[in-house]
Amino acid sequence: NHLKKYFPIKSGLLNRTVGHVRAVDDISIAINPGETFGLVGESGSGKSTVGKSIVRLMEKTSGDIIFKGQDLYDLSPQEMRKIRPQLQLIFQDPYSSLNPRVRVGDAIGEALIDHGLVPTEEVRERVEEVLASCGLSSYHINRFPHEFSGGQRQRIGIARALVLNPDLIIADEPVSALDVSIQAQIINLFRNLQETRGLTYLFISHDLSVVEHLCTRIGVMYLGTMMETAPRDELFKNPLHPYTKALLSAVPIPIPKLKRERIVLKGDIPSPANPPAGCKFHTRCPFAVERCKSEVPEFRNVGSEHHVACHLV
Ligand code: SF4
Ligand code: MG
Repeated sequence: NHLKKYFPIKSGLLNRTVGHVRAVDDISIAINPGETFGLVGESGSGKSTVGKSIVRLMEKTSGDIIFKGQDLYDLSPQEMRKIRPQLQLIFQDPYSSLNPRVRVGDAIGEALIDHGLVPTEEVRERVEEVLASCGLSSYHINRFPHEFSGGQRQRIGIARALVLNPDLIIADEPVSALDVSIQAQIINLFRNLQETRGLTYLFISHDLSVVEHLCTRIGVMYLGTMMETAPRDELFKNPLHPYTKALLSAVPIPIPKLKRERIVLKGDIPSPANPPAGCKFHTRCPFAVERCKSEVPEFRNVGSEHHVACHLV
């Protein structure tokens, strides 16, 4: 609720704060148990910062993070440690978070032992079970990370998160580094795991075609602000925000008759240290009118769980 994350910009000998990068600038989302919420936007839109602030990998500036009725930022370090297994983060490149000298089985088992979740003699069984559910086998337990392909490494990353029996998985661009054919396999794995384990996902991606097949609802972020949220089908059939329309126009669709006109955005995403006044999107919006330069559009409910921030809607 109203999450903000500002990073101070320091300057000079005295290291004074001269401004802030407003990475996340007042966003609110609700994720229901068992659903997959897709958070979409260009790089630099603040998506990853949202994910990291939720699990307190990065401390928020303000706002509330409510998990199962409890504000995570009200918890003591001990209480947070107890709850942490329930909230797991999966990154784009699991290789960077895997110690090259630690065998895969140990890397996955470590977390179990750290959190004292199962007796030591049961660790191996749990690791084998989770590897199997991620499409790997006990044969892989004694291997080192460099012996795996990109797709297999992401399976290891998923297994490591899953072994803790989480309720919420925040996946930050989990397939962006993979070949398209492998992407589909990993997305199917996410879907199967959700069905068998009742997981809830916050799925972060810059690519709408990736979230299309997995997400129940989608939120589109731009420069730290939520521009539009809607159920998946509604967003794809009836996008209302010009930014969403532009993103969607770049997604290939299988039915040629429905061919959308490609909207090419001019320029780059402005710096979040100095975002445009009014609608943050006005410098790139093909439909901008005068009031867009000064008036911030309200994030309004336009019916059927569809919310949008644009003066023209
Ligand atoms: Fe474009 Fe104006 Fe709508 Fe912003 S408020 S998206 S600038 S039309
Ligand atoms: Mg990111």
